[in-house]
Formats: sequence, C-alpha cells, structure tokens
Amino acid sequence: MTGLRLEIEFDKIGHNARSLVAAAATHGISITAVTKAMLGSVDLARVLCKAGVRDLGDSRIENIEHMRAAGIDKPMLLLRSPMASQIERVVQAGVVSVNTEADVLSGLATAARVAGRIHDVMLMVELGDLREGVMPDELHDSVRHVLGLPSLRLCGIGANLACRNGIEPSVENMGDLSAMVDSVETTFGIEIEIVSGGNSANLGWAFGPAAPGRVNNLRLGESILLGREPLDRRALQGLHTDAFALVAEVIESKRKPSKPWGRAGQNTFGETPVVADRGMIWQTIVALGRQDTDPGDLTAPAGIEVLAGSSDHLIVETNDRLKPGDEIRFGLGYSALLRSMTSPFVAKLHHRDL
Ligand SMILES: *Cc1c(COP(=O)(O)O)cnc(C)c1O
Repeated sequence: MTGLRLEIEFDKIGHNARSLVAAAATHGISITAVTKAMLGSVDLARVLCKAGVRDLGDSRIENIEHMRAAGIDKPMLLLRSPMASQIERVVQAGVVSVNTEADVLSGLATAARVAGRIHDVMLMVELGDLREGVMPDELHDSVRHVLGLPSLRLCGIGANLACRNGIEPSVENMGDLSAMVDSVETTFGIEIEIVSGGNSANLGWAFGPAAPGRVNNLRLGESILLGREPLDRRALQGLHTDAFALVAEVIESKRKPSKPWGRAGQNTFGETPVVADRGMIWQTIVALGRQDTDPGDLTAPAGIEVLAGSSDHLIVETNDRLKPGDEIRFGLGYSALLRSMTSPFVAKLHHRDL
C-alpha cells in the first residue's frame, strides 16, 4: 500500500480502553468511550464495546447514525447539545443527549411524544471552563423544566472542563459538582443515575487521592486513542501512545539555504515567519498538508524536523537527501489525528491489513 495513509492499530486502542475501564472501575467510575476523533468508526466502536465501556459518546449525530446503521446497539451519548434543526433525528437515534437550553429540551420533548418515545437527557453544568453548561444557579430551574416534560427522562448531570480554557478538574470544582447533584436530589426527591465528571483531563483527579464524590462516569477520547492525558500531554502509564501513524511520501529533496531571500510579507496563512540563517540544509518536501492533518501536531522520526506546512506541502529538514517516493512515518497528537481522520485525502488502514 502506498500513498498518504493513517495506519491504525486497534489492538493498542483496545488495550488502552480495557486498562482505563479497569482502573476507573476501582474508583467506582464507568467509562463513556468517545468516538468523535475517529468519525464514529464502526471498527473502533466494536473494539470499545469489547473493552467493557458503559456506552459510546460522539459529538455528531451523523457519526451516531452511522454506527447505529452498522448495527452498534450500545447505549450512546450525544456529546454536543442538539441543533434545533436536528431534534427529530436525535430522538430517532435513541441516544442520551446533553442539554443546556430550555427551548431545545421542549423541542426534544415534543418530538419524543410524537414519536411515542421517552428521550433521555443529561444536563450540563458550567464549572468555569466557559464552554457548554447552565450556570450553577440555574441548574434547579433546568431540572424543574425537564421534570415537567413527561416524554423526557433526566438520567444524568454532567460537566466538561479543560476544553476551551484548559481549566483543570480539581477537588474544588468536582466537589461543587457533587454538591449540586446532592442538592438536586434532595430538592426534587429524585435520584441522578449518572454523574459524568468530565473528559480525559479528569484522569489525574480521578486516579489521585481525592474521593470521586458523586462522580461515577467519565467520557474518554484522547486517553483511549492516544494514551495521553490532555492537560500536559503526559503519557499515561501502561498505555500505548503510538496506535496511530501517518505515513506520507517525499516529493522533493534539495540542498537549499535555510533562510529565504527577497522581501517578506505574509505567507498564505497570514503569518510572517521569522527564520534563522543556519546555512545550507537538506530541505525535503512531503506530500502532506493542512488539508490532511495539523502539521504543527506531528511528531517526526529521529533525525527529521518539521519546519513548516502549507495546504499541501510539509517542509522538513533531513540529515541527507531522501528520494521521491521515500516514506516518512509521523506520530500524531489529538489535533493532527482529528484532522487526518476527517480528511478524505487520507486512506485509513487497519494494521492487520498492512
Ligand atoms: C470530546 C469530548 C469529550 C472527550 O474528550 P477527551 O479529551 O478526548 O477525552 C468528552 N466530553 C465532551 C462533552 C466532549 O465534547
């Protein structure tokens, strides 16, 4: 197999998922495995289900419908608030949806009633990262609203940190979440089944000395796929960090000056690169660009350094001349993985098929 390709070792992903499921279970925490970075891959879903996760989570209804159509009947969580225009699809897909808006909840309730279904919802509460969530002082109003809609069932309360502003899960904010759940239960005389404390950034908190409180679920994507904890991209002990490799071809390799000449304005992407003069170098071009991945989030093999990336060209420095057709194998971070998985130009290959 030649050409631009993402090689995927599902065995390693399965190992990561099993390890995290087991470790979390010792803290009384179940795992929602997040499939959004892999376009709702059915192969991934099967591996995750076998690894013993509680349910699957994805941000896109399209990915969820794709997995459902392929026969994945595991419980699923729609991780992003439903678009008002997609409410019927969300109800039809038979998922739990996360929600923060009263009008959307009313719309889901109507769609569920018409379809003769009960739709499960998880309310998201803001804990300081300033992405999705109702403000803590509005949580009771939201709960009251859901409880007043008989075709909805409130199955959980969740929170999400470290996505927009990198706010870390802590004893304080996780304690606040537990206290809010307790307060909802006593005020309304109900039991909240799932308290979903956050994403892979919560692992340090969850596996640390702090008691999990009411948190009994985490939604994990990056840690399962890439074996890393997202707050500082530390490798998690015992997990594989190399389940993915992006393999691309050299198309040019020339001895060139390291410093450009002529008057410099902005480049294609509005940047004005400052380049040090390091004399003559081996400049190699790889047929790989921003349409295929995030060039700044690749890890090159030893002896190769990524210098720059444009739409279709990745410029690397090599120790020697490479030949056109030579392949270079890159490791990927989350951003590179997300973009490569969703690029139609990148072939996706199972390791066992290689
Ligand atoms: C993407 C996402 C996750 C998974 O995050 P990771 O950092 O990949 O573990 C969890 N929850 C929500 C709401 C998400 O959007």
